[in-house]
Amino acid sequence: MNLEIKEKENQYVMSTYGRFDICFKKGNGCVLVDDENHSYLDCTSGIGVNSLGHNHPEVVKVIQEQAQNLLHVSNLYYSEPMIYLAEKLVTASHMNKVFFANSGAEANEGMIKIARKYSYDKYGENRNVILTLKQSFHGRTMATLSATGQDKFHHYFYPFVDGFDYVECNNIHDLENKCDDKVCGIMMELIQGESGVVPLNVEYVQQVEKLCHEKDILLMIDEVQTGIGRTGTLFAFEQYQIHPDLVSLAKGLGAGMPIGAVLTAEKCQNTLQKGEHGTTFGGNLMSCAVANKVMEIVNQPDFLYEVEQKGNYFMNQIKAISSSDIKEVRGKGLMIGIVVDEKKRMDYVNEFIKKGLLVLTAGIDVIRLLPPLIISYEEIDKIILIMQEVFQ
Ligand code: PLP
Repeated sequence: MNLEIKEKENQYVMSTYGRFDICFKKGNGCVLVDDENHSYLDCTSGIGVNSLGHNHPEVVKVIQEQAQNLLHVSNLYYSEPMIYLAEKLVTASHMNKVFFANSGAEANEGMIKIARKYSYDKYGENRNVILTLKQSFHGRTMATLSATGQDKFHHYFYPFVDGFDYVECNNIHDLENKCDDKVCGIMMELIQGESGVVPLNVEYVQQVEKLCHEKDILLMIDEVQTGIGRTGTLFAFEQYQIHPDLVSLAKGLGAGMPIGAVLTAEKCQNTLQKGEHGTTFGGNLMSCAVANKVMEIVNQPDFLYEVEQKGNYFMNQIKAISSSDIKEVRGKGLMIGIVVDEKKRMDYVNEFIKKGLLVLTAGIDVIRLLPPLIISYEEIDKIILIMQEVFQ
């Protein structure tokens, strides 16, 4: 890569990210091209963001048209892209209202505020604890870091936001034990992404829903990574046959534009009143215009069916690679985790890069694949050939 860029990054940008020595210049579909004209098959989608791949013609058209009209107006006024997007999300989710934010962490902050306010309004001051799962990941702001059930994120930044406690995944007894009269919400990812593509058991999630309903505790589902078609249904919660009270979205909803959203069920749709929550950029016209297009394309039975089918095919093809390097393959739709030897994981990732394949990692021993939802079978086959060469 252009070394001047690397030196300038080193000099001017805070070193919060470990970066590979690649600088991307353009992309098309599932392919990214770097500044030396090397092409890579992209199984990262910018960590689950580029749901429609790169340079999607309809997304480009929407951006061009919207840019010619208007980029931003404040939330003091109405704007069409935001309202139409709200209608699409509410209709598709069978939920009631939406609040727009700018990122996943911010959407989760919104869920946390709604859960606490709902409980405050109904039960008074001291019912404000939110239970989350061990190994969860909910974001990097102070409250979402507190919500994140992984010790490694809990260093240095004390004091944390109070009112969070953590329960074991898939262990209903642990949850029942900790679910006292201080708890106002239970927040979870249905497939834990960051900690290794770990799907929760359906039975467990349904038991959690039952407990929430019995105790009037809000069921808060973080679909920042799983939402908008990633798992083969528009929302992962559909596959668990549950009715959450709150759902957070981000990443794939904007297909590359920053956006976050909180969906509420009827009982908490009016919990936050005027002046109680807000953000300058939330509902930004450009982000919402693109998200409308994403919803038009992704929320089609044929499109979602294809994601499911391609996901099954991809996972089966990986499982069929005869290699002792692969310990387990798991996931749903196009959210796939390959468990490998922790010590060899970065060697595989670097070998993939040399052969023109970009992947993510997750947890301590997982290679995570989040390809664009528009990936083709031919591209999956090419990726399998690369994996066959790298896994021994
Ligand atoms: N929740 C989940 C499940 C995530 O995977 C992420 C990001 O990876 C977040 C929340 C935070 O989203 P953001 O980075 O947009 O703040």
